[in-house]
Order: sequence, then structure tokens, then C-alpha cells
Amino acid sequence: MKINIIGAGVAGLSAGCYLQMNGFETEIFERHSTFGGLCTSWHRNGYTFESGLQWLLGSTASNPFYELWSELIDMNSIRFINHEVRMDIEVKNTADIFGEKVFHLYTNLDRLERYLLDIAPGDAVPVRKLIRSMRKMQTFEIPPKIKAVPQLLPWYQKISYIKYLPLLLFLNKIKGETNVTFAKKIKNPFLKEALMLLFDGEELPLMIITLPLAFNDMNGTGYPVGGSIGITGNLERTYLELGGKIRYQAEVEKIVVQDNHATGILLNTGELIPSAICISAADWNFTLFKALEGKYVNKTIMELHNQEKLKVYYSVFMVSLGVAGTFEHHPHFLRFPLSQKLVSPDGTQYERMEIHINNYDPTLAPEGKTVISISYYTQNADYWINLRQTDQRSYQDEKQTFSQLMIDLADARLGGLKEKIEMVDIATPATYHRYTNNWKGSVQGWLPGKNIIAQSPVSSELPGLKDFYFTGHWTIPGGGLPVAIKSARDVAQLICHNTRIPFKILPVSPAF
Ligand SMILES: Cc1cc2nc3c(=O)[nH]c(=O)nc-3n(C[C@H](O)[C@H](O)[C@H](O)COP(=O)(O)OP(=O)(O)OC[C@H]3O[C@@H](n4cnc5c(N)ncnc54)[C@H](O)[C@@H]3O)c2cc1C
Repeated sequence: MKINIIGAGVAGLSAGCYLQMNGFETEIFERHSTFGGLCTSWHRNGYTFESGLQWLLGSTASNPFYELWSELIDMNSIRFINHEVRMDIEVKNTADIFGEKVFHLYTNLDRLERYLLDIAPGDAVPVRKLIRSMRKMQTFEIPPKIKAVPQLLPWYQKISYIKYLPLLLFLNKIKGETNVTFAKKIKNPFLKEALMLLFDGEELPLMIITLPLAFNDMNGTGYPVGGSIGITGNLERTYLELGGKIRYQAEVEKIVVQDNHATGILLNTGELIPSAICISAADWNFTLFKALEGKYVNKTIMELHNQEKLKVYYSVFMVSLGVAGTFEHHPHFLRFPLSQKLVSPDGTQYERMEIHINNYDPTLAPEGKTVISISYYTQNADYWINLRQTDQRSYQDEKQTFSQLMIDLADARLGGLKEKIEMVDIATPATYHRYTNNWKGSVQGWLPGKNIIAQSPVSSELPGLKDFYFTGHWTIPGGGLPVAIKSARDVAQLICHNTRIPFKILPVSPAF
């Protein structure tokens, strides 16, 4: 049975692998000339610039996602780095009791607890409570039943979910705590200020950081040496070894529908490729409102489309620098305050700057050199996307001027940066949109709402349309690689179930 898959990102490649393992004939159609989608790296003059991977959930067996990655990738072939400090945050108005202005978010919970008690001894009660809540998270299987597809579970198996009731109650109890509500419980001015800046000045559920920290402590969220391409290159290899086919530079324009059955895809060249089933692992908005012309929608889908239910995640303006130096005396990930507000051409105002120094990954640069990236998140990606489409010259000018400003500010903070720059690579929100087709240049699908444990309103099947499935990072708010692989596996299981084929996993061959 032939299955057409749109998109060779992590979700499309994963869906292809699982379906090939189960005897389907699949073909992936990718508009770009290479695989990976957002999770990609590119080479320029000896440097490798990285897009979509700072940490991989499931880098060790301490997290259930490890099992999923191991089904498709030889995880032993990848070396993961677990940073001692997740992030350093330099505050503006206060200092710790030792006169230090930089707050260290340690990844080892014992060390983090000691550090917090050292800098804020008067806040022992909330600090210990915070650490206890992360230790408690470690006692649960998160996410629970990773291999199960909830809609396929018979009632008697659903009953077994009762054992996860304590997890639900626990998450429900902590879901209302934000960095701001927690900071209000803290007396120490330095710790209070650092907590307020945890999400770059925004108020977000504290769980967004405490959950990864709980996994960090168990080495479950490592950075894979080799970056994105190490992960996606392995996925592509597995897919091809399983007999899958990929057509690059094959842009899908429409999903062909007859009698409410998806019967094939139409490429922008006019070529029609029939199939029994069609999967879109591409952008949600493109799939529903362009490829399917908005014909298979309901109230929830329209609310999502109008961004009433969820907002689209941020896009990024990223300046990556290849530099002749290793900058080892600086933290690998630093956020620091600017002396003056920086206003982006898209109107977003920034009071801080984030710098990643990737000197821990020797594969990204020649010896003695490194890649440094400076990034700004924006929810006004449409500004860049429209400008690029309507006025190339202004787009190029504004892109260059803004990145030069960013480089100047980074240079002022790091010292001696500018004279060491050998390569500059600029990715604007229009770049992410152009290369991956993600709506508004989103880098992780939807932004999670206030209730991050709520069930996702996005479905992998559409009302009234048969033989069609949707997968990828738009299926669960917050997106990321774990959502991409999990949603792809679920869709493959659903297809097996609907075609009465017992779902199976074949062993992957070791990487050489
Ligand atoms: C800077 C950055 C940092 C990140 N850091 C992390 C991190 O540390 N950890 C983490 O888990 N996640 C991270 N992410 C997010 C993660 O990279 C994405 O969520 C994930 O890669 C999405 O995978 P996907 O397959 O669902 O979608 P995509 O990667 O968007 O893949 C979709 C594919 O479909 C193709 N396509 C689209 N339209 C068409 C069409 N019409 N015809 C044919 N093909 C089409 C696209 O070209 C693309 O290849 C980061 C992302 C960025 C950009």
C-alpha cells in the first residue's frame, strides 16, 4: 500500500521509518534540497552552523523518549554532552552576597540546592520546596505510557492509567506556579531578580524549566555532539536502509481529494502522485488551509487558525559567527542585560541578549576556533517574511544593519570578538519560513498555553477526510523533537490499526 508523506523533517522521516518497518511502501516529498526541516546544520568555510537542537529529551535511558530514539537511531553512536550549568543569567539591579551578578542555573539538583541556599540562606523554605518538587518529578514516568496511542487503547487498558493519577494530581498542583509567583515568595533580591528573568522577562509556568531541570539532573537532556545533522542524518539513513524513497526539491501544492478520501498529492510542477494514504508532516496552516483549501475544518480548527485557542510559537533572528578563538573563559550560554533597549526592525524591544558559545562541540569548527550564536526571539515574523517578499533591498539592508548591531553588543560584552570573526551567517524569521514553510517562521509549532498539562486541541485526523493523517511539532503545543517523533509513531500505529496490520519495530543497524 503506497503512502505519500509531505516533509522530510524529524516527523516525516520518523513516520516513514515506522511505516517501512510495517511493510508499507512510502515516499517522502520534500521541497528543500536536504532533510531535517528545522533540525538541520549547514557548512560554511570549515564551520558548521546549527539550527534546531540545543538539547535532546531522551538522550539517556533515564527518560522514556530514549526508547523511541533507539527504535530509529543507533543511540550508542552519538556522544551526548550534559552541561553542568544550563544557563547563566546576568542580572541588572542586584548582586549575590559575594558581589556576583551572574546567576548559575546548575543542572545537578544537589549542587543547585547548595548554591541557592548559599546565595539566599533566608529563603531555605521555598528553595527546598522547589528542589523537592523536581525530585518528585523524577519519581514519575514522564511522559507516561510513551508507546501507547490513547485513542487505540481498549477500556480495560485505559483503566491502567489510574496508576498515573498521582502524577496528574501532582502536575495539577504545580501547574499554576509561574516564575513570577515563585519569585514573589523569595526575599533575597538577587534570587528574586534572577527568577523574574528566567524566561527573558516573561511570566511563564515554572514547570517549563523545572521539568527539563529534573531530567537534566538524570542526564536525560544532553546535547548531541555533531548537532542536528547527527540526529537527522541517522534518521534519513535508517529510512533509506528500510527501503524508503525521498524526493528532494519536490514541493507539494495540493492534497488531492476524491469523495472525501485523500487520494494523492499534486506537486507545484503539476505532477500528480497517487497514494492510498497521505500524511502531512509539514506546516499545520499550510496543510489545512492551502493544501486542503480549508475544506476540512471545525470550530476548534478555526479557533486555532485565528490564534484564539493558542498562539503561534516564536520565530528567531539568529546571527551565527565562525570565530578564530575558543572563548573558553565565558559560559556556554549567557543571558545578560543591555545598557539600552534594542529595538528590532520588526518592532520587538529587547532588554537583554543571549549568546551561545558552542566550543564544547569540536565538530562545528576547526581546532582552536568555535561557533558563537546570538539569537532574538520574535512573534512578529510576518514583518520579515513580508519585507523579503515585497522589498528585497530593504530586507537585506535591515537584516545586515540589525545583525551588525547585535554583533557590536556581543563584542562589547565578550571583548575581542569582532577581530576574530571569520564567517557570519544570518537567519531571519523569513529564512526559517523560506526553508521550512513553518507558519510565521515558528520554530516549535504552537506556544504552550497557561495550562501546559491540558490535552492538545490539535488532532492528527481531520473531520470528514479519510485516508489522511497529520503529524509533527504542531500536534502538541511546545513542539520540539520529542513531539515530532512521538506524533509520527502514533500516526504509524493508527495506520497499522486502521489497515489491520499488527504494529512492529525492526532493529536498526549500528552506525559505522
Ligand atoms: C533555533 C532552534 C532551536 C531549537 N532547539 C530545540 C531543542 O533544543 N530541542 C528540541 O527538541 N527542539 C528544538 N527546536 C525545535 C525542533 O527543531 C522542531 O520542533 C522540530 O525539528 C520540528 O520537526 P518537524 O518534522 O515536526 O517539522 P519541520 O522541521 O518543520 O519539518 C517539516 C518539513 O516539511 C517540509 N515541507 C513543508 N512544506 C512542504 C511542502 N509544501 N512540500 C514538501 N515539503 C514541505 C519542510 O521543508 C520541512 O523539511 C529548535 C528549533 C530551532 C529553529
